[in-house]
Amino acid sequence: MNPVGIVTLKHGREKPLLQKHPWVFSGAVAQADGSAGGLVDVRDQTGRFLARGYYNPRSQIVVRALCWDESEIIDSNWWYNRLAEAVRARGALLAGAHVTSCRLVHAESDGLPGLIVDRYVDSQDGSVYLVLQALTLGIEVVKQQIVDLLIDLLRPRGIVERSDVDVRQKEGLPDSVGMLWGDPPPMPLVISEYERFYPVDVFTGHKTGFYLDQRDSRSWLQNLHLRDGEVLNAFSYTGAFGACLPHVCRIVHIDSSQPALELARQTMSLNSLQTVEAEYVCADVFQQLRAYREAGRTFDLIILDPPKFASHAAQIERAARGYKDINLLAFQLLRPGGLLVTFSCSGRIDPDLFQKIVFGASVDAGRQAQIVAWLGQPADHPVLLSFPEGRYLKGLVCRVCDF
Ligand code: SAH
Repeated sequence: MNPVGIVTLKHGREKPLLQKHPWVFSGAVAQADGSAGGLVDVRDQTGRFLARGYYNPRSQIVVRALCWDESEIIDSNWWYNRLAEAVRARGALLAGAHVTSCRLVHAESDGLPGLIVDRYVDSQDGSVYLVLQALTLGIEVVKQQIVDLLIDLLRPRGIVERSDVDVRQKEGLPDSVGMLWGDPPPMPLVISEYERFYPVDVFTGHKTGFYLDQRDSRSWLQNLHLRDGEVLNAFSYTGAFGACLPHVCRIVHIDSSQPALELARQTMSLNSLQTVEAEYVCADVFQQLRAYREAGRTFDLIILDPPKFASHAAQIERAARGYKDINLLAFQLLRPGGLLVTFSCSGRIDPDLFQKIVFGASVDAGRQAQIVAWLGQPADHPVLLSFPEGRYLKGLVCRVCDF
């Protein structure tokens, strides 16, 4: 038996836990007795065991459940088995040698709330580097234990921490970035995926350095037979989508980050895309698209992959206006028969709402369009049925048909 505190729920608030949703909100708690970051048992008013998890009285999510079986003991062995299971799942789901860099642990969706582990494999020498994010206090207190287990399990060359995410503030934690173990990766580290090469800066890049979650969209673009067209890659970051379009004649990368655009240049040269004319525009996408509209510039393919516009419910309306604005501009800039590949990574904007926003944009732009594909998270970013909040990335590919 683990030495644990006890959190007792208010009457009638047990249903989500009974259905294996992993979060207990502070409003559902009648009484709590536990140490911050430590383990607690969650019980109902009759004293019945519901789940065991870790506790943080400072967070709105006071408990994150780890298991639903009272006999499970959460010790080093338990963490090892959960990690090993997440790693094993990737082995079966990803495309063998073509996909080596991937997310190994996707937090709640892998039964390890608050923990992200990404694996980056150096395409030069096969060295494995892990990048870890501890999003919660419960993970912070077992971080060293997890590092030791990851070394045992995966024999990486180095483990980097990128716990510089906003959610840590809600947990009462400062940012933490640096080496946790072993050798630092080269800067940038060059990974490969489906025979393309991507430079990754794991120390200062976004997220853990690369948008691993856009793999299926990259693959979709690679299978597109777009020849001689002009492409606008808005919110390009390191230009990864550009590497998937080797037969176009021109690509314009727009991003507000100059360091990201420097890596976008490297992405193009690493993939021998000298035949593609490339522009690197450091600008605000909203303004730049307006400038193109005023100038009468048009494109055959426009990709819109903006950052998260809504982090909480109060921002949904503003976010919706932002999505509408850029999608409307994109529809105005597309040539007849052109394609819009448009994404939202705001979990708060559900797929139906996103589709409605894109529809509204097409109406206002006076363009008729067909959805020709739905894109989203790849298999290494799974969504638990009991935790639909884990679904955040959605994409639509629309073809302007103008009839
Ligand atoms: N498409 C990229 C990921 C994009 S992430 C990929 O597949 O790798 C979002 C990017 O938008 C970031 O690089 C960020 O620097 C940029 N960004 C955020 N707001 C912006 C704005 N208003 N104008 C231009 N770029 C912006």
